[in-house]
Amino acid sequence: MALRSWVESANEPATDFPIENLPFGLFRHGGEEDDTHVGLAIGDSIVDLAGCYEAGLLEAINEQVQAACTAPILNELMALGSDASRAVRHTIATMLMEGSMMQPELEPHVIRMRDAEMMVPCAIGDYTDFYAGIHHATNVGSMFRPENPLLPNYRWVPIGYHGRVSSIIVSGTGFHRPSGQTRPDPESAPQFGPSRRLDYEMELGALVGPGNERGERIPVDRAEEHLFGLCLVNDWSARDIQTWEYQPLGPFLAKSFATSVSPWIVTLDALTPFRTAPYTRPDGDPQPLPYLASSDHSGFDITLEVWLRSAQMTEPVLLSRGNSRDLYWTLAQLVAHHTSNGCNLRPGDLLASGTISGRTSDSRGSMLELSWGGKEPVVLPNGEERRFLEDGDEVILRGFCEREGHRRIGFGECRGTVLPAN
Ligand code: CA
Repeated sequence: MALRSWVESANEPATDFPIENLPFGLFRHGGEEDDTHVGLAIGDSIVDLAGCYEAGLLEAINEQVQAACTAPILNELMALGSDASRAVRHTIATMLMEGSMMQPELEPHVIRMRDAEMMVPCAIGDYTDFYAGIHHATNVGSMFRPENPLLPNYRWVPIGYHGRVSSIIVSGTGFHRPSGQTRPDPESAPQFGPSRRLDYEMELGALVGPGNERGERIPVDRAEEHLFGLCLVNDWSARDIQTWEYQPLGPFLAKSFATSVSPWIVTLDALTPFRTAPYTRPDGDPQPLPYLASSDHSGFDITLEVWLRSAQMTEPVLLSRGNSRDLYWTLAQLVAHHTSNGCNLRPGDLLASGTISGRTSDSRGSMLELSWGGKEPVVLPNGEERRFLEDGDEVILRGFCEREGHRRIGFGECRGTVLPAN
């Protein structure tokens, strides 16, 4: 049964943020540049946890957790693990319920989202980007190697690379089209200039809660204890720069100019009703090695949509709809693999899944795949065509979970607009 809140917008069936969700974020509401607060999303509003603390509304919670709620960054709370975030969400959820006697005390600390500025939710120390979307890997591979799209390691080892943190930006932040070195004509010398094959990638992000000591491995069956929650990630990519630079060491400047994240972190607790079996490996695929063998319900059923609004459009159009079930490796397997050599993860680290595409053409999570390397332009409803992104294009990622018998929850949006090259 759906829970009702005195925050009316949280009761609307289409809201991403009913009481059942209560994701964490970091926001600024007037005040100084560095005056940021940790908050929980509810309907069209935010519960200000620092305000709640000052009003004595968190007193039932352990003192260390209370202190973390007043920090100007989310990392302190993330480090305390799921018991801490659960206690905070449960305490606030009780007070948000319709009929709660606490409404008059909590209400002054609930502000409208439209009056707040969202920040990157935590200090991200390291960012790792995986390649776990098997249909994306197959699509991209088959453009280059039609007879042998997946390299032999793909089904054995989760593929990833270390990404760039300094250019991670929060939803709503624009970025300039990158320039770089490309070689469009293999008969001519490479050239330098604005990318002409700019793309987006629809990915799921996992943010690390408690970390591990250097030299210590995280077993796959305990890996989720180290995840604080999930967000949406757009790994903007310059395909022409990538094609020329990626061998032999992988992505570099083709990816490091901007990566967008959604501002709200949905906890694994909130996602519990939407758990599912991991990706079903076809007959003939190897079983994971023992250190990656994971339990039955470590997958998630999250619908992932990509929308585009060109400079000429007033409303965005849907480009694709995929699902996180198409990840060949679970998040738990990614964590276990990442730490299998003793690499330490720290609270706030970001692990992105890799582009998530489905089997069908309407579920491809990048423009590279939708236009098949630029060969088959995507025709938009207003007659415009896209092979890659144009200046002024806004890409909007949306994620949500729906299941019979459960309240819908969502991730909100991850938006970004392509500005002309500098
Ligand atoms: Ca990527």
